[in-house]
Amino acid sequence: MAAQQIKDVQVIDGVHYHQHEIIIIGAGGAGMRAAIEAAQGADTAVITKLYPTRSHTGAAQGGMAAALANVEEDGWEWHTYDTIKGGDYLVDQDSAEILAKEAIEAVIDLENMGLPFNRTPEGKIDQRRFGGHTRDHGKAAVRRACYAADRTGHMILQTLYQNCVKHNVKFFNEYYALDLVMNTVDGVERPAAVVAYDLKTGDIHVFQGKAFIFATGGFGKVFKTTSNAHTLTGDGMGIIWRKGLPLEDMEFYQFHPTGLAGLGILLTEGARGEGAILRNASGERFMERYAPTIKDLAPRDIVARSMVQEVQEGRGAGPHKDYVLLDCTHLGAEVLETKLPDITEFARTYLGVDPVVEPVPVYPTAHYAMGGIPTNNAGEVLRNDEEEVVPGLYAAGECACVSVHGSNRLGTNSLLDINVFGKRSGRNAVEYVKTAEFIPLPENPAANLQGMLNALRANNGTESVAGIRRELQETMDANAQVFRTKETLTEATRVIHSLRERYRNISVHDKGKRFNTELLEGIELGFLLDLAEVLVYCALNREESRGGHMRDDFPKRDDENWMHHTMAYLTGDRTSPNPSDHIKLGKKPVRMTRYQPQERKY
Ligand SMILES: Cc1cc2nc3c(=O)[nH]c(=O)nc-3n(C[C@H](O)[C@H](O)[C@H](O)COP(=O)(O)OP(=O)(O)OC[C@H]3O[C@@H](n4cnc5c(N)ncnc54)[C@H](O)[C@@H]3O)c2cc1C
Repeated sequence: MAAQQIKDVQVIDGVHYHQHEIIIIGAGGAGMRAAIEAAQGADTAVITKLYPTRSHTGAAQGGMAAALANVEEDGWEWHTYDTIKGGDYLVDQDSAEILAKEAIEAVIDLENMGLPFNRTPEGKIDQRRFGGHTRDHGKAAVRRACYAADRTGHMILQTLYQNCVKHNVKFFNEYYALDLVMNTVDGVERPAAVVAYDLKTGDIHVFQGKAFIFATGGFGKVFKTTSNAHTLTGDGMGIIWRKGLPLEDMEFYQFHPTGLAGLGILLTEGARGEGAILRNASGERFMERYAPTIKDLAPRDIVARSMVQEVQEGRGAGPHKDYVLLDCTHLGAEVLETKLPDITEFARTYLGVDPVVEPVPVYPTAHYAMGGIPTNNAGEVLRNDEEEVVPGLYAAGECACVSVHGSNRLGTNSLLDINVFGKRSGRNAVEYVKTAEFIPLPENPAANLQGMLNALRANNGTESVAGIRRELQETMDANAQVFRTKETLTEATRVIHSLRERYRNISVHDKGKRFNTELLEGIELGFLLDLAEVLVYCALNREESRGGHMRDDFPKRDDENWMHHTMAYLTGDRTSPNPSDHIKLGKKPVRMTRYQPQERKY
């Protein structure tokens, strides 16, 4: 328990004050895995805008990687190699090694907590194939993904929540963290409090803590066609960004090959892991041409690009030749109903297509942010290119960039990342708070958020939140998706700037306090605009193609000039149409241990 007496909640001038040693922001897989560790060593509170079990981790389908070697020969060293090569060598290799080694314990932890994994006939945890995971450095696809049908994330989230309850974690559900208050002590800027908005009452709450762990997930909603839920607006990254702290590798965004065409709803790569095949209009298994060894199980960046190329060259299927087909028909009804039941249902419900008897129309969908809040292997947030940390500030999960995914994440490595680095950040925060003090608060720590809310409420402009968000998403799909050029990215920059101007003129019709989701969507849109701007600016800057970032005008990887992480900082005049007036870019070296960059063949 706490070394220091914890104050009760106080209300001063209508603002509620709380004090907990460790404050976790986000109750997805990363936040709850951290909370299980944190609560065993310190007084811990979790603030979450969604009820915990509604977090996006619950939508994850296919599996979680770990070289258990339950069904065939495997080892963590092969997993490390695949992760590095999959990330097109922009991966910090020591971090990837930790990920692959600690994967085994992470799965066993979950099993001990009660997670019902699928089993082999002998009762071991079963494993399936997934893109980019191979035997012996690329020789053939390997069965490495542990899974619970195609509901792996759902099972992880439920299991973690049950264990949080067991460890008496205190949850503040439907509280939106919208600001971080920093204060300088001993010449170093440190986090002092998180300021949150209670959806139910509209009240503002200040959470003073000694350590803060950001676990707020991704920001897929900058794109129109996405597998991400409506709530994935990158709030945590946005809050950190506005503090002048860096974001790393924001240009690298992953497009998952198999979204339902026209909708973006995900069909797990586990389908191809079980043997499904991508075909073009003439029925050709086109991945044989692009990745002769592992074909449909090549990493996502390669498969997504190949699909778009098929469509661009006129080999797409359907009346408009604008998608390709995922053929599961040869798998048989039993495999589909038992191992892939959810996605079988999705195809039937949303497209009226039955995967048992006909191929499913698919097209790439915005899926995962490789970039985010930079951290070291302990989960501590970095404040500069030299890897100095912000004491007491941690990040884990999709909002963080360790970087284990480099420029392209392998499927099943995110459920793994949230468990391994969620646990690490929780443990390290416990160690930190043993000797740390609470940082003094400024006079009105809620002032910044109050100002933001009042401005939005008072505004009677002509612009709507939904309208600006739609235009943002459309320009991102059109200009910053699988293929990018200087022209498309310049166009995106222009549109985003004009949307940022118009954003100042939005009006929120609901002026009330209770469940004012319209007001909060207004704030979330502000974060989306900020993150879209930095993504596009970093993409424009990186004049090479690597992993998820494909520049048609610079189609080759260029290790000589670009083998480094991008660090972006918000500085100066934000009203300028030219992002270089308010975004400063830095470089951070890639840590290499055993593997020298090679040409990436599959
Ligand atoms: C459809 C789909 C399928 C996937 N399948 C797989 C898979 O099979 N294998 C795999 O490895 N990966 C998969 N992924 C990726 C993986 O699921 C995610 O990257 C991962 O679960 C993210 O976990 P997280 O804890 O970082 O964030 P999330 O689970 O998204 O949780 C974020 C949390 O932050 C909270 N939050 C956000 N903003 C605020 C705020 N302002 N204030 C307070 N709280 C806030 C939310 O309430 C939520 O609790 C999939 C992703 C999707 C979208």
